Amino acid sequence: MISESEALQRVLAAVGPLGLQTMPLAEALDAFAGRDVIATVPIPGFDQSSMDGYALRAADAMLERLPVQGEQPAGRDLGLVCEPGTCVRIFTGAPLPRGADAVIMQEDVTRDGESIRCLEPVEKGENVRRAGADVCAGQIIIKRGERLTPARLGLLASQGLTEVQTVQMPRVAVLSTGDELVPPGGGPLAPGQIYNSNAIMLASLLRRLGIAEVTTEHCMDDLEVTTRCLQHLTTSHDAVILSGGVSVGDHDQVKPALKQLGIEPDLWRVKVKPGKPFLFAKGPQSFVFGLPGNPVSSFVTFLLFVKPALLRLMGAAASEIEQLMLPVPVAESMRNEGDRPHYIRGRIVKGRFESSGMQQSHALHALARADALLRLEAGETIEAGACGTVWRLD
Ligand code: AMP
Ligand code: MG
Repeated sequence: MISESEALQRVLAAVGPLGLQTMPLAEALDAFAGRDVIATVPIPGFDQSSMDGYALRAADAMLERLPVQGEQPAGRDLGLVCEPGTCVRIFTGAPLPRGADAVIMQEDVTRDGESIRCLEPVEKGENVRRAGADVCAGQIIIKRGERLTPARLGLLASQGLTEVQTVQMPRVAVLSTGDELVPPGGGPLAPGQIYNSNAIMLASLLRRLGIAEVTTEHCMDDLEVTTRCLQHLTTSHDAVILSGGVSVGDHDQVKPALKQLGIEPDLWRVKVKPGKPFLFAKGPQSFVFGLPGNPVSSFVTFLLFVKPALLRLMGAAASEIEQLMLPVPVAESMRNEGDRPHYIRGRIVKGRFESSGMQQSHALHALARADALLRLEAGETIEAGACGTVWRLD
């Protein structure tokens, strides 16, 4: 059995970014930039006022009164000039008239007909946004491998762009295996049957990554059926995520089916709890992730191995893949008597981590109540109040 870190290394070493594509900004949310984007226009594009008020020369603020020489609204540059000893009525975002070097807020003046008196001194540059102060032309504004967040899409739009080069989103399939599975809505359960909960959970985890279109299929624990399903999915998708059937039971058909297809697992069984039976294989056209069927094991191995691999396929930079682990004090003493690192499901309440209930790998209710995982090393004990390493779930 290999360690969690070695497993992750092997998985990441096997995957690389998919090809590039050009996408409308409106569809690019959560994709990763395929190359650096360089600004072509400065932001702001011209010197402008950041307040509603009066444009003037700062030194003139001491004068008894300043005649108002005109009005400059936002949206159209009237080409006004601010002569010495005068001012121009101005509004937020409006171009600064030539000659002016500051704007005084309207709250800081008294206006009497066609002139104003300044109640406060003004400094040169006050309430003025200089051209290029935020972004200079020629500057890199988005780096290759950065996720296209709402703010970054806004930044691209501020350059007048309508499209962006991204790395393609992987086509992903989720294949649930198990004779006992019934789709939710598929009628009442016969004795021994359960509803398939992993399919929606895994598809939703994928959606959180920005992968919205997911194929979901189910197959029985039959070698021929599993082989056929896998053959079809591994030739039509970039990644196939299996749930169940990867252990060593007589009914676990994933390994034999992969063998039939000539796909050799790169790794199988990892020193982690939950999630030991995790399997990873690189087929000729597709990556195969075999997750254990127990819901919590499926969830944890998805986060540990599948998520980083998919992010890499999506073109994420290493810094976007690395999982942030934070030190958080534990509410009660925690002990891992096993020989594998254990991810405990829990909640952060008033700054302390507490277990959210039953910690067995089938206990979906405690996982559903959890907002964090605490990583306990093999043999580790953390006393109440001491810090553990916590992974926040989003
Ligand atoms: P397996 O990994 O196939 O041995 O399954 C381990 C446990 O997970 C068994 O109790 C299965 O019934 C359960 N299980 C497998 N697949 C699913 C699924 N899609 N949804 C919920 N539970 C599952
Ligand atoms: Mg099974």
